[in-house]
Amino acid sequence: MKKLSLIIPCYNEEKALPFFYEEVCKVAGELTQYELELLFVDDGSKDETLSVIKGFAEQDERVKYLSFSRNFGKEGAMYAGFCNASGDLVAVMDADMQDPPSLLPQMLALIESGEYDSVATRRVTRKGEPKIRSFFARAFYKIMGKISDVDVVDGARDFRLMKRKMVDAIVAMGETNRFSKGIFGWIGFKTYWLEYENVERVAGETKWSFWKLFKYSLEGITNFSDAPLKIASWSGIFFTVLAVVAMLFVFIRALCFGDSVAGWPSTVCIILFIGGVQLFCLGIMGQYVSKIFRETKKRPIYIVSESNKKDVK
Ligand code: UDP
Ligand code: MG
Repeated sequence: MKKLSLIIPCYNEEKALPFFYEEVCKVAGELTQYELELLFVDDGSKDETLSVIKGFAEQDERVKYLSFSRNFGKEGAMYAGFCNASGDLVAVMDADMQDPPSLLPQMLALIESGEYDSVATRRVTRKGEPKIRSFFARAFYKIMGKISDVDVVDGARDFRLMKRKMVDAIVAMGETNRFSKGIFGWIGFKTYWLEYENVERVAGETKWSFWKLFKYSLEGITNFSDAPLKIASWSGIFFTVLAVVAMLFVFIRALCFGDSVAGWPSTVCIILFIGGVQLFCLGIMGQYVSKIFRETKKRPIYIVSESNKKDVK
């Protein structure tokens, strides 16, 4: 019998979890040909999330959990899930039902057809999301598509069903700076994109403020592209050429017309401008240096403080 593991990262999801669990149990009723593992990853929640999960585990031996020593972020939670999931097929899904469990049978059927190694999902609408957030999200996917070495599909969710070989490839990517949407794309494999309409969160609140999302998108760009570094070099070359041309102009003008130097305000403007560009470029370098710094320390991506699983990785 094939084993299916569902990884559910949870951070302060006490309100949403009962709905989620009920729905998954309902869907599991249709999937009797699989042995199911529900791997809840409590990402250092401050509410009763862990006790809710323990409650499930008491009456249901399919329920396994890992509880972190603090909040490590969804990326860390997903990685912990991948490292510890034992299924032949593995799926990641949010606890708030924005990744509808009802799609699972369809996803499993697609994988079982043998043509694909993974079934990924993508929302085709952004109903119920603030306009400004959708606008920036779209812009991010466009920029990312142009400048990075991986394809990140617009509206792609982390909700994915994968074969074991794909999970192993993800586990092997033990980088500290994680951006899963990029990692999924980078490792390759044949992926089917399943489209669905956006679903609103069943209960509780989103953990992503606009600012957090903005920082996450910059993380995505700098993790999978060196285009910003190229921008820095190209603007350096551009301003050097401009300066040489300007010098020649001033020099020739002085030779021909004997003009004295006039206009210090414009000079100050130029100095300020170039100074700004230099600092900006230095900042870009800094972003990459800080990533190297974090990466070289090789700190763990998550720390488990409690679990009902044997030999936790
Ligand atoms: N999550 C997590 N750690 C965090 C933030 C979020 O494990 O630090 C989980 C959260 O519990 C949920 C999923 O990641 O299951 C997606 O979070 P959320 O619904 O807040 O994001 P949104 O759907 O609004 O993008
Ligand atoms: Mg959500």
